Amino acid sequence: MVVRGVTDVVVIGAGQAGLSASYFLRRREVDHVVLDANDAPGGAWLHRWPSLRMRTVHGIHELPGMPFEQPSPDSPANEAIPDYFARYEQLFSLPVIRPVNVTQVVNDGSLLKVETTDGVWTTRGLINATGTWRRPFWPYYPGQETFAGSQLHTADYQGPAAFAGKRVVVVGGGASATQLLMELAPFAAETRWVTRHEPVWREGPFTEDYGRWVVGMVDERVRAGLLPRSVVSVTGLALSDQTRAAIASGVLDRRPMFDRITPAGVEWASGERFDADIILWATGFRHDLDHLAPLHLRAPGGGIQVDGTRVVADPRIHLVGYGPSASTIGANRAGRSAVRELLRHLDGVSLTAA
Ligand code: FAD
Repeated sequence: MVVRGVTDVVVIGAGQAGLSASYFLRRREVDHVVLDANDAPGGAWLHRWPSLRMRTVHGIHELPGMPFEQPSPDSPANEAIPDYFARYEQLFSLPVIRPVNVTQVVNDGSLLKVETTDGVWTTRGLINATGTWRRPFWPYYPGQETFAGSQLHTADYQGPAAFAGKRVVVVGGGASATQLLMELAPFAAETRWVTRHEPVWREGPFTEDYGRWVVGMVDERVRAGLLPRSVVSVTGLALSDQTRAAIASGVLDRRPMFDRITPAGVEWASGERFDADIILWATGFRHDLDHLAPLHLRAPGGGIQVDGTRVVADPRIHLVGYGPSASTIGANRAGRSAVRELLRHLDGVSLTAA
């Protein structure tokens, strides 16, 4: 494999978390590269469905050092945010290299070897910022493979037109499920919303104190080496004028999870059935960490145990955008603290200056 370089820190991923880390590495004049699998700037935002407009995203926290001038509420999020990221990379001359897919990271004595589709980098420290978008989660239900209609995941959703005149089951209790249902229901012939748990609706503003409590709940799990929980599982779903109207009209009338899938649709143990043309799995994502498998970082609880952003089993490695930092605001903070702590660990000794 071609040797591409030796550096102090490799950042994997150029989404909000990776760019934030790169900004703080630049400020500290640390030699580093950011390896990103995408063809263009934008992280996961590049892949969001075209009908997702800025008015529907919950609020994007700006990257450190450069304001995010609010685009028009009608702008597609998959253009407005990538455009902001592109300008950011340029303004701070961030050393992003793309498209480069990291295939695995392996130990090389006290160093790490980052193997990619474009050669190998050797590094002293690693900041992993690979997000979740490339790992959609599909649960399995009996009979799933026999379904004669089509099944897709939030990650495949391209807008409501494909649902025109169709009978649609939307599976999932998160914000994506409710957003997609409200968007496609006016086009569909009929919809059903199914979730495993009764949804909990949250009234009132998302204050900073409340945000801190939520982050604390997710943090507790990853500190214990358990798999991170989704933020919605802690906060519940936000009630807005739009969701209230959708509850009143029956679009957000939640049914319990079905028990099996048949060629014609879905069925409950009670005998109730719903004939469907499409099942949309809005069942979330998992952290994209397979390339770290050779390092054996997973704890018995299934997650990677972290203290803040530092991997407890290997202090050369930080996970940003993971667990409690998996939001645009959390990703920023994580980038800063990962850099501070990693540099302390590396003790100011530069590999490239040696
Ligand atoms: P990403 O943006 O996913 O970036 C990861 C990058 O790593 C990508 O560019 C990817 O190509 C690259 N990568 C992955 N694997 C590899 C590899 N092996 N080699 C090289 N590169 C790799 N948060 C908010 O704060 N506000 C919102 O309104 C909001 N809306 C959301 C809506 C949806 C539908 C979803 C799914 C999430 C939303 N979030 C929101 C959460 C938010 O998007 C994320 O927390 C944040 O953007 C993730 O940033 P990130 O940098 O961790 O990851």
